[in-house]
Amino acid sequence: MFNYCPSCASTNINFEDAHVFRCPDCGFVYYHNTAAATALIVDTGDSIMFVRRGKEPARGKLDFPGGFVNPQEGAVDGLLRECREELGWTPHRSSLTLFASFPNVYPYKNIVYNTCDLFFSVRLDGPPEKTESLFRLEKQEIMSVVFAGYDKINLDEIAFDSVRAAVSLYIQKLK
Ligand SMILES: [Zn+2]
Repeated sequence: MFNYCPSCASTNINFEDAHVFRCPDCGFVYYHNTAAATALIVDTGDSIMFVRRGKEPARGKLDFPGGFVNPQEGAVDGLLRECREELGWTPHRSSLTLFASFPNVYPYKNIVYNTCDLFFSVRLDGPPEKTESLFRLEKQEIMSVVFAGYDKINLDEIAFDSVRAAVSLYIQKLK
């Protein structure tokens, strides 16, 4: 991820265990630690809601609302902020359940981030139109929302391995 040491510009650099950058010439050390990210599974009783990504990586593929947790922010606060930004709507804090966590790899502008994705779920009963009417989408981030029936979810259309894993587990637990 670096070609030179950011501190002394040495090219004599090491990258250990895929996340520790160490410069033997000046002693500079940088830990490219796992980043926390959140995602929300909206369950309408017979379908799961996805958002179609409006930007890279995986533009056009299906994802959940959510994103990186900011410094000094809790996971639930981060999720509520992302929902507010992306959907113009937030679930009630007390209605959220932590469902599962999976690792993910997120390449963004030449840097690969390893994330720890936290999947929360919320149940919103009623037809998809009723849920969708709550939203004001952030159009640069999200093309549209997609409600997929429990038995009609195409895993190949999903953007990331972590989301695929969460969807598979969620559907399996319904049975
Ligand atoms: Zn150095």
